[in-house]
Amino acid sequence: MHCRNCGKEIAGAAVFCVGCGSDPRSGNRFCWNCGAESQPVAQVCVQCGVSLAGQRTAEAGAKSRLAAGLLGILLGGLGIHRFYLGYNGIGIAQLALGLGGIFTCGITSLASWLWGLIEGIMILTGSIDKDAQGQRLRD
Ligand SMILES: [Zn+2]
Ligand SMILES: [Zn+2]
Repeated sequence: MHCRNCGKEIAGAAVFCVGCGSDPRSGNRFCWNCGAESQPVAQVCVQCGVSLAGQRTAEAGAKSRLAAGLLGILLGGLGIHRFYLGYNGIGIAQLALGLGGIFTCGITSLASWLWGLIEGIMILTGSIDKDAQGQRLRD
């Protein structure tokens, strides 16, 4: 992708732009996909046609790191934090393990509870910092 501030090509996961040092998603002067100059008010890139507005809207809807972390610690055994972040597959696996404790004298519940607890801590410490759509969690 390209920095939206200066148009420089950067790694998709980059937190800040190596060209201008700012958050590459915070700008609105260049297309993130092709690097062409874009009008700040443009909804789509005239060069390649990708949505420019969607990124900003998505940014505003970023999920809370604190909420996800606390959900993981408190309700992680049921995969609630995973559902919150949109990782439904893993969420269902954790939910199945959590409820599976009914048949395993709580052994799988304990495992999924520990799993959720660890992930909750990883979310709070920033080891997990993206939701299922690859969008960074907000602090
Ligand atoms: Zn830049
Ligand atoms: Zn473009």
